[in-house]
Amino acid sequence: MALIVQKYGGTSVGSLERINIVAQHIKETQEKGNKVVAIVSAMAGETDKLIKMAKELSKHPSDREMDLLLSSGERISSALVAIRINEIGAKAVALTGRQCGIVTDEVHTKARIKSINSKRIFEHLDNNEIVIVAGFQGISYTTGDVTTLGRGGSDTTAVAIAAALKADVCEIYTDVDGIYTADPRIVSNARKLNKISYSEMMELASLGAKVLQIRSVEFGMKYEVPIMVLSSFTFNPGTLVTKEDKEMEKIVVSGIAHDKNQARLKINDVSDQPGVAARIFNEIAKSNINVDMIVQNVSDDGKRTDISFTVPRDDAEKAFEILKRLAKDLNAGEVSVNKDVAKVSVVGVGMRSHPGVAARMFNTLSSENINIRAISTSEIKISCLIDEKYTELAVRSLHESFGLDKESA
Ligand code: ADP
Ligand code: ASP
Ligand code: MG
Repeated sequence: MALIVQKYGGTSVGSLERINIVAQHIKETQEKGNKVVAIVSAMAGETDKLIKMAKELSKHPSDREMDLLLSSGERISSALVAIRINEIGAKAVALTGRQCGIVTDEVHTKARIKSINSKRIFEHLDNNEIVIVAGFQGISYTTGDVTTLGRGGSDTTAVAIAAALKADVCEIYTDVDGIYTADPRIVSNARKLNKISYSEMMELASLGAKVLQIRSVEFGMKYEVPIMVLSSFTFNPGTLVTKEDKEMEKIVVSGIAHDKNQARLKINDVSDQPGVAARIFNEIAKSNINVDMIVQNVSDDGKRTDISFTVPRDDAEKAFEILKRLAKDLNAGEVSVNKDVAKVSVVGVGMRSHPGVAARMFNTLSSENINIRAISTSEIKISCLIDEKYTELAVRSLHESFGLDKESA
């Protein structure tokens, strides 16, 4: 008998028909002799709809109330799935984040899980019940208020629960049948990987491949939870996210990711002396804005410099206001913001031992006449900032130039 944690994303529970299919699959998993905990997302489009409603009522709705509002989407789907399972002859109980002991910090809309008290989940499992958990939510350990875990957060609920319960596997059911060498919606000949390392998946997730929320992969890696990504439409074997092995190092590039949620800010003509960059990035950090790529150009005389950097697009206006204020204080030149940019990245653990990846990436982009506006690297990834309109072209040409449709995983 195994303890299996499953997670069903928005499209997987997007209609009553889909909920019926999911309920059947959960019941069959139990009938094979397993204990089952299933985490569900809100029905497809529901979270966006709730956000839109709030924004129609207020330009800046409070984060606390947004969390209470958004957590309702997952509560609805968890109750509906449990209702259906009970109807078709198994026993299920639906629990909110609070009811299944998920405690987070108090950072509304992007809370982090601090602990999970799994006592209640185990009690239900011991009672032969299937536990259906409303994903994406917890309660703050200081205020007791409802918190949510950021967009895509049900993945993190699932992997964190799997870690807490020491489950045998965490199955993430979605609308594609695994992790591909690139987003299969953009690259039609993208190839499904049989397995991928936690570290590569972490890079892909942080670079825009939203198939798994980055924190879910962090949990998976930390607690060594085997994560299987697969489709609730085909139930075909999917992709295993697991520990790195020797085989994986042989493959130079495992995947291409892209992220359109980017904006580039620039401050011209600032004095090139110690403390200036610190001042700018301190101010940005104080507003909880994450800075990603940074480029600094020094003028010929070495006295003045231009600094540009990228932030998530939603934070662009806020960062722009901060920069305008700083430009006055620092006696700097013009400040600008460009939201028509995107980041494309190549990822692979094999990069550590194979030179020439950056050169190949830059050659490929240049042969398509795509200008590179900023570059950042880590041990296992290279990212380039380009004009947004070239994103699809860049992803497809990189996919081809690194032979990703051909290499075997
Ligand atoms: P869910 O609602 O099930 O959580 P998401 O929409 O969050 O599903 O994630 C699944 C989507 O991730 C896919 O439909 C696909 O377009 C996208 N995606 C991006 N990059 C990849 C990739 N490398 N492999 C598979 N899917 C990817
Ligand atoms: N419903 C939330 C979202 O749309 C969380 C999730 O689906 O994982 O982001
Ligand atoms: Mg998702």
